[in-house]
Amino acid sequence: MALIACPECGKQVSSAAPACPSCGHPIAGGEISKTDVAGRAVSVLGAWLVSGWVARAIFVIVIGIVAIFLFSR
Ligand SMILES: [Zn+2]
Repeated sequence: MALIACPECGKQVSSAAPACPSCGHPIAGGEISKTDVAGRAVSVLGAWLVSGWVARAIFVIVIGIVAIFLFSR
């Protein structure tokens, strides 16, 4: 059982509690796990997009070098 900060009032709340005992903001289940999954999905998607761009940039540079060699002959 972990203590987390309530997103509404910032007080320490048990992560197993259904709602914040101080302000009544819902804690367990839904919101936090959804943002956690969304954050992981965004980071994985971002890393995939960045690696895709790097691979594309290297591919374009290699094609450019080959084109320069072909045109210089
Ligand atoms: Zn609260």
